[in-house]
Amino acid sequence: MADDADVIVVGGGLAGLVAATEIADAGKRVIVVDQEGEQSLGGQAFWSFGGLFLVDSPEQRRLGIKDSYDLALQDWMGTAGFDRDDDHWPKRWAEAYVAFAAGEKRDWLRAMGHRIFPVVGWAERGGYDAMGHGNSVPRFHVTWGTGPGIVEPFERRAREALKKGQLTFRFRHRVDTLMMTKGAVEGVGGSILEADNAERGRSSSRKVVGDFTLRAQAVIVASGGIGGNHDLVRQNWPPRLGEPPKFMISGVPEHVDGRMIGITEAAGARLINRDRMWHYVEGIRNWNPIWPRHGIRILPGPSSMWFDATGKRLPAPLFPGSDTLGQLEYIMSTGYDYSWFILTQSIIKKEFALSGSEQNPDLTGKSWRMTIKRATNKGAPGPVEAFKQNGADFIVRNDIGELVSAMNKLAGSDLLTLEHIKAQIEARDREITNSYVKDAQVMNLHNARRYIGDRLIRTARPHRILDPDHGPLIAVKLNILTRKTLGGFETDLDSRVFGTDRQVIQGLYAAGEAAGFGGGGVHGYRSLEGTFLGGCIFSGRNAGRAAAKAAG
Ligand SMILES: Cc1cc2nc3c(=O)[nH]c(=O)nc-3n(C[C@H](O)[C@H](O)[C@H](O)COP(=O)(O)OP(=O)(O)OC[C@H]3O[C@@H](n4cnc5c(N)ncnc54)[C@H](O)[C@@H]3O)c2cc1C
Repeated sequence: MADDADVIVVGGGLAGLVAATEIADAGKRVIVVDQEGEQSLGGQAFWSFGGLFLVDSPEQRRLGIKDSYDLALQDWMGTAGFDRDDDHWPKRWAEAYVAFAAGEKRDWLRAMGHRIFPVVGWAERGGYDAMGHGNSVPRFHVTWGTGPGIVEPFERRAREALKKGQLTFRFRHRVDTLMMTKGAVEGVGGSILEADNAERGRSSSRKVVGDFTLRAQAVIVASGGIGGNHDLVRQNWPPRLGEPPKFMISGVPEHVDGRMIGITEAAGARLINRDRMWHYVEGIRNWNPIWPRHGIRILPGPSSMWFDATGKRLPAPLFPGSDTLGQLEYIMSTGYDYSWFILTQSIIKKEFALSGSEQNPDLTGKSWRMTIKRATNKGAPGPVEAFKQNGADFIVRNDIGELVSAMNKLAGSDLLTLEHIKAQIEARDREITNSYVKDAQVMNLHNARRYIGDRLIRTARPHRILDPDHGPLIAVKLNILTRKTLGGFETDLDSRVFGTDRQVIQGLYAAGEAAGFGGGGVHGYRSLEGTFLGGCIFSGRNAGRAAAKAAG
């Protein structure tokens, strides 16, 4: 039977779009199949903050940051903690990816019109030793235009290929099976879902109105992870992070359902590191939700005081923005699945950012006039103020006693006592007048403010939390928010998928989150942040180029 295309790509998210455009540019015919409608093209990346891990960039150099491949690789390896036989390919991917981030990545994107906001962010700051977890320097480069700005160049290239007849989209086509002959992939089969005009990101109908098969020499699985499917998240939850949380919110749309992972596994693909995942602990329930259980992650600056459900301050170095999975592990060890920030109006104004393109209209809309207000404005950015006023997890009071009693009321318990909370805040406040201190979090503030980017838009001037001039006081109940899948299909550097017999499956490739962002788990146990979109770009590019080449 004749092939419908040279290559079929399952998934029109960022990884799928990158792979498809590389295939079309190589002069091959490609079909992109997606279960969602055209309005959702770009998948999760559209909703993302657009943060990219880059090493020794002009933006860093301009801010006086001295970065290098060696320093970044040291940070990556200390963060990943590769320790399994299965980490062979993930580790090779990590070396190649850090080289890409220190080399070609920025210029390649720039040539397609991608631009970067000039202040580089400092995510996952660690706090252990030089070989431990975290970024030693700021490396989180925010795309000018956030998520839509990273999708745009690839969508444009895809639409050009569409016009030339090199690329075809099949929206509302859900793949249910990989067609195999003698151990080689020869196409996909599945269901046609009824047309649905649901807005981007909203759940769409799963009513089946037909079926389809498509044949090609190669199939690239770029179907995303499992973060929208809480049953799968709980099923794969690693015991090292404690019991799976009873209550979680979703940082991803419902189409991140993990279904295609099971389908690909059933075809014989080798899924590794399924117990590695990346969920956030600073999740807040969205007062204006788009998808089910929609939660937003606070990207916190370093000053908020962080308390567990019983009112005990999180131990050093688990300060805001230091070690996401360290915090998750600690929180789950308390027997509760939530924690608290306590902060001031001065802190929220300067330090709260919300992850998501729709939560950052200034950067997403590429408005310099609005963006400049991050440094000069008297209040917090509009979307943060909206959460402060409408968000179910926010409490605002002038008096600490009233704040603590409202926190207990919100949690539906009496776990917090005023004396305990107040004593810890007062102890911290006594240290704030000297720039040489014992409190490790306050030391961190002074360190952060030595970096001009933090001083400008990310770290409030150190002050007493109980100083009424910086009030009102704010408490935020923080929930666990599902997001990324760090494990995935084991692949070589050409993104070719291995089978359970450890041999490459002819014609099968995987990219993006489905491939653990490359190799089956390029991050190891933890991430340095901004590494997911870049992982989609790098693995999608490798998969597309290799599949096009193999198509002859
Ligand atoms: C709010 C938010 C903020 C983020 N911020 C950042 C950031 O700043 N930096 C960063 O690096 N990362 C960030 N991320 C993560 C990053 O956006 C994602 O990890 C990445 O975009 C995943 O891309 P993907 O192409 O692998 O998968 P997806 O975007 O999930 O795309 C997969 C596609 O496959 C389709 N599909 C699935 N199964 C099937 C099937 N059986 N048949 C047909 N189609 C199917 C889905 O409908 C979907 O369109 C963020 C994510 C979110 C949600």
